[in-house]
Amino acid sequence: MRVSVAGAGLGGLCLAQGLRGAGIEAEVYERDPEITARFQGYRLVLHPTGFEALRSCLPARWHPLLDEVVSDSYVERLVLDPQLNEIGSLGPGRSGIVVDRQVLRHLLLTGLTVHTGAGLTGYDVLADGKVEARFAHRDPATADLLVGADGVGSTVRSTLSPQTVPTDTGVRFVLGRTPLTEEFAGLSRAFGSKIAGDGVSLLLGAMRFRTPPKEAAGQLAPEVVLPDIHDYVRWAMILPPDGSRTDLSPPEAALSRMQGWHPDLQALIEQSDPDNAALLSIRVIEPGERWAPGPVTLLGDAIHATSPTGGNGANTALRDADLLSRCLLEAAEGRQNLLTAVGNYERQMLEYGAEAVRTSLEALPAYVPAPEPT
Ligand SMILES: Cc1cc2nc3c(=O)[nH]c(=O)nc-3n(C[C@H](O)[C@H](O)[C@H](O)COP(=O)(O)OP(=O)(O)OC[C@H]3O[C@@H](n4cnc5c(N)ncnc54)[C@H](O)[C@@H]3O)c2cc1C
Repeated sequence: MRVSVAGAGLGGLCLAQGLRGAGIEAEVYERDPEITARFQGYRLVLHPTGFEALRSCLPARWHPLLDEVVSDSYVERLVLDPQLNEIGSLGPGRSGIVVDRQVLRHLLLTGLTVHTGAGLTGYDVLADGKVEARFAHRDPATADLLVGADGVGSTVRSTLSPQTVPTDTGVRFVLGRTPLTEEFAGLSRAFGSKIAGDGVSLLLGAMRFRTPPKEAAGQLAPEVVLPDIHDYVRWAMILPPDGSRTDLSPPEAALSRMQGWHPDLQALIEQSDPDNAALLSIRVIEPGERWAPGPVTLLGDAIHATSPTGGNGANTALRDADLLSRCLLEAAEGRQNLLTAVGNYERQMLEYGAEAVRTSLEALPAYVPAPEPT
């Protein structure tokens, strides 16, 4: 069996690792010219389901390395004012496993065949039941299954399920990261909390590696090359609809809303890494009816994009990857045919995917600032 995966995000790469482990041939096609072409280095919190799905797709020999480049988190989820005084709570504290997305992507890339600069432009189902994927800058590729893991703007979805389209929540946020130095020790209470300012919310989260990733890979799995990065604070400022200033850099846009805030908070944004900051919009995809069975399916944000405030998009994409690779292994071993295996995956994925989007949307209002007075 041969599988083409469109998209080298966490979901597509995790699937390709799971398939590699199962002895199924998989090639990944990524639109970006290089893996490091865009800012992708924010921290994620994984819950037990997502983390276990990730582990089960990775070779067991890399588990010690994975465990060394994550950390446990427990956050109190307070609401603080811009002077860091406690003014409320977002509900019960949450625990999880904190990972850096860029580090995780590099681990997941190891040993895979990934073609960069390979934006998928469309596909055709062939008379023999296989599928031919077409690309902007390379020859078509034929496989038994095409998996669209190509994110919220998925090209695969636009053909497979054209009625499923993203909804723009109107909410924008700027985010970036700042090296976690002693200077910011006093901010630790704010990690995981919401800082509520005038018309904006600022969210901070610490990424602390048990061992710096490059060093950990050198010690535990020399065949894996991980980026040379160190502990940092991820900051994200949520802006009201139409509240973003596109004429400023992301850190400048955040600072322009922070006059009179606690000096440590201002210093945190001032010292942020200019190459790792972005302005993003929150778009969601609520999956609807299942499409006609065939040799094409979807995974991750391509079919159930959540609001980041739900903290469950990556968890769900990793769960998809693990589930789909298990279903495909059954087909590869002849225990069921390919279309039945894909159907089993889609039925479960569409149900828990829709639930993940609902949960994330329920969590959104708690983070979105009140509208500014006109
Ligand atoms: C700031 C922020 C914080 C978040 N925090 C959390 C968290 O704490 N926990 C959590 O679970 N989730 C979190 N999420 C959500 C999570 O990051 C996403 O749900 C997850 O990364 C989706 O993975 P994916 O592989 O489905 O899609 P993506 O990561 O979007 O990957 C899609 C890939 O496909 C490529 N692509 C696009 N079009 C094409 C094409 N035509 N051909 C080929 N390739 C293409 C893209 O370049 C990209 O590399 C957060 C998101 C953000 C933005």
